[in-house]
Order: sequence, then C-alpha cells, then structure tokens
Amino acid sequence: MALLEITNLTVEFATAHGSLRAVDQVSLSLDAGDIVAIVGESGSGKSVAMLALMGLLPWTATITADRMSFDGKDLLTMNPKQRRAIIGKDISMIFQEPMTSLNPCFNVEYQISEVLAQHFGGKRRSYKPRVIELLKKVGIPAPETRLKAYPHQLSGGMSQRVMIAMMIACEPKLLIADEPTTALDVTIQAQILELLVELQKANGMALVLITHDMAVVAETADRVVVQYAGQQVEQRSVIELFNNPRHPYTEALLSALPEYAKEKTLNAIPGVVPGQLDRPVGCLFNPRCEYAQDLCRQQPPQKSEGVLCHYPLPLKVASNSHSEVTL
Ligand code: SF4
Repeated sequence: MALLEITNLTVEFATAHGSLRAVDQVSLSLDAGDIVAIVGESGSGKSVAMLALMGLLPWTATITADRMSFDGKDLLTMNPKQRRAIIGKDISMIFQEPMTSLNPCFNVEYQISEVLAQHFGGKRRSYKPRVIELLKKVGIPAPETRLKAYPHQLSGGMSQRVMIAMMIACEPKLLIADEPTTALDVTIQAQILELLVELQKANGMALVLITHDMAVVAETADRVVVQYAGQQVEQRSVIELFNNPRHPYTEALLSALPEYAKEKTLNAIPGVVPGQLDRPVGCLFNPRCEYAQDLCRQQPPQKSEGVLCHYPLPLKVASNSHSEVTL
C-alpha cells in the first residue's frame, strides 16, 4: 500500500468571474522514502494541490478527487479533528518564506515545543531537551543560546532551519517542502537542500519538493511531476526526464537552463501560464508550444504513456547510463 495515494484531484475556486480550476485531475502516488519533485512555473497549481492535501485551502475552494488517502486513511471523509491529528504530525509542510511562516511574537523554544505539546500532550517546558536536540539536528550552532531568540533575530537561513526543526519535530512520514530555498541566498540554498535530503534519508520519510528550479530537481529528486496550468503534463524518473523529455513544456523548461543554452542568450518560453480569463481552447500549452498543430488548438489532449500531449516527443533508445544527465 502506498503511503500517499491521490487520484484525479481537482481544485476549483469560486471567483467573481466564475469558477477557476487551479488543479485539474492530478494524481500522485508516493511510498515511504520517495523523493518526488513537482515542477512548473508560478500559476501551475503545484502548491494548491499540496495545500488541498493539507486541508489548508480557503472556503472558496472546492476539492474533489476519486481518492486521497494517507497511510491507509481516507482524507476525503475525515472530519477536521481527525485531520488535525495527522497534519503537522504525520504530514508536515515547509513554506517558501521562513520569516513570515514563523510567528514573530514567540521565541524559538515556544514555537517548536508548542508543536510537540499539541500532538503528544504534556507541558511545553518538558520538551526543552527535545527542542535543543532538534535544533542541533538541523545544524544550528550552540542551540541552547538560540532558544529564546525571536524570528527577527535570526537570519533567513537560520529561520528556515528553525522551520525545518519544527516540521520534523513529530518525525513525520511525509514532508512537503514548498519552494524551501527560493527566499534564501544561493550559498544557503544548497545547505538547506542538503539538510532536507539528509533528514529524509535518516528518518526514512517521503519528501515532496515543490520547485520551479530544474537544477534543484536534478540534485535531489528521484521522480518528477511536471505541472502546467493545473494539469500534470508528464511524470517520470529524473534520469529519464532529463535525458529524454517527452512533453514540449518539459523540453522548454530544460532548454531554459544555462547548461542547455546553445548560444550566448538563454532560451525562454514565450508568454505566460494562462489564467482564468485567457484559457485557450484545446491544449492549454498551445499558444506557447513550438510544435502546436491544428488539432492542438481544437481538442484537449488525453494522457498517453504518462504524457499529456497530442504529439509527444519521440522516445529515445533506453540508456542505463547516468552520464547523460548533464546537471
Ligand atoms: Fe504542444 Fe500540441 Fe502537445 Fe499541446 S498537444 S504540448 S500544443 S504538441
């Protein structure tokens, strides 16, 4: 039995202009110890799908799915109390901006021990040794001296480490990291990614990494889900995807990397992800796709071999070599 099983998840928001489908028939299956990256530009519904799983979407969202289960429990039929017992304990989520995720009114010790007290009971004070141990685990030097620090007294990298300590406090089975390094300096980004992978391996937890950075995907994930305008357009192993992208959007994302640039200028994908009012007929990627044909402008494609495209790019001869991945 998979740890996480999501089948055909759809999320729609009620807006002044009608209903906006932010996530469209997304499926994801995850075992313990898996590292899966969800990639795509802003507006592709990556975070919304995971927030739906966490039950953190506003009341304007309507969530439907054929199946959404975690560790054998059906999340769709759970009441809020049952869900609260899982969220923050067995499933945790780290957000993009650590400075705004931490509560500015409470110190580090209070915020981490509060999570433990909420899920395991007892007095917050009794968790002080565990808080110190967690801070040590996430690489905070002299943790005893940081216990009484408030978020504004911490750097961005330090705040993200505190967030991670808080999110792994209950030893979750699944950790979702939503652009965990975007708001950080480049040197700190690598350290935080390394830390996440180290913790994932040490605890055997599954990790879902939401990112728009293909280099981050290449360095950390085993499997990649590519999302565009709320739809999953391709889902493969990292090696396969980097060596042989099958969806034109995946190919375009990869060719925008400096390593793939054939000339001095970087490749860019023209246009933007369509919103509610400019959704094209047929394939949602067709206005930006260099392979688009008449059929693409008339009919939405169906998934074939895991690729949502009328004309998937050809499959190369299978290779067992990792050396083709150039990142
Ligand atoms: Fe491009 Fe057509 Fe495939 Fe859409 S269906 S990605 S427009 S080739």
